[in-house]
Amino acid sequence: MSGEVMRLREAAVRLIDWYREAERPLPWRESPTPYHVWLSEIMLQQTRIEAVIPYYERFTRELPDVAALANVDDEKLMKLWEGLGYYSRARNLKKAAIAVIAEHGGVLPRTAKELRKLAGIGPYTAGAVASIAFCQPEPAVDGNVLRVVSRLLADPSDIMLPATRERVTAQLRETYPAAGEACRVLTQAWMELGERVCIPNGTPRCEECPVRALCLAHEAGAEEEYPVRSAKKPRRIEQRTVLLLFCGDRFAVCRRPESGLLAGLWEFPSLEGEVSEQAVRDHLRTLGMEAGMITPTAPAKHIFTHIEWHMSGFAVDVSKIGSSEFVWVTAEEWLRDYAAPTAYKAFTKLVSEREF
Ligand code: SF4
Repeated sequence: MSGEVMRLREAAVRLIDWYREAERPLPWRESPTPYHVWLSEIMLQQTRIEAVIPYYERFTRELPDVAALANVDDEKLMKLWEGLGYYSRARNLKKAAIAVIAEHGGVLPRTAKELRKLAGIGPYTAGAVASIAFCQPEPAVDGNVLRVVSRLLADPSDIMLPATRERVTAQLRETYPAAGEACRVLTQAWMELGERVCIPNGTPRCEECPVRALCLAHEAGAEEEYPVRSAKKPRRIEQRTVLLLFCGDRFAVCRRPESGLLAGLWEFPSLEGEVSEQAVRDHLRTLGMEAGMITPTAPAKHIFTHIEWHMSGFAVDVSKIGSSEFVWVTAEEWLRDYAAPTAYKAFTKLVSEREF
């Protein structure tokens, strides 16, 4: 066994003891079923715990088990996910639920290998569900765990490289006890340490850390030099002009394409680039609409993982509904029935606060 694995094994022993004391009450930890563990892990990807809790509670109230998820209507699924972002996660959940019903008798498979065959389940989620739900000796290595391990071992490897993640996963697997309750505890302990103690974006709370005596970065006073990560590519900037087209007490919305970014969600019509008021009038005329008063709106910005949307906008009164490519809705219908990306939050606020 390598020196690194021995250090990680010693850390695992301390973490198991620590977590039994430190475990927080979270809704998905109260009598968790494999379905609840799976769902919470998918929701927690890219999203903070505090933000996930209300979504998780609403989702599990509406869809309490795998069968309910497999049978949910797509519109309802998107509405339940609205605001969480990364909507392909929700679509994959449903796809996987259908496969669990068809191929596994409605019960999630127990091993990481079988779990990974389901849509949307990668090595991290497979490890998390196998160990937390089924007490299997499988680590779940995400950015949090990579950061902690990198500091513990003062490891200069680039954590953005898949090879680093694979090596750390293999090393941690060697430190797991035999299948049983301690596996569930250990996976959650690594996660918890990364979320609450060995934190990102700031100084880690080493004085509270249960593995401080083993930590090479701490020993060298170099905690903030780890983890090493290669620079990300800059995000692509997309400029667009959002059109809030009002006709009486209704406004126009349209559906995004079935594939690609925010697939299938609803949005306001828009034009590429930052266009002038006259260009908006001309464009609407081509759609059979005559624009009355046009008022510029405040600009808005939304940041996705690889893209930034920079949005200007116009509120436009149109005298007739000319185009059949839009659906015309009231503010009440929009908020109640249509799943829209958070990117349009500022514009949704404008249409819902407008007095007709
Ligand atoms: Fe992280 Fe500090 Fe603990 Fe090391 S001692 S693992 S740097 S919190």
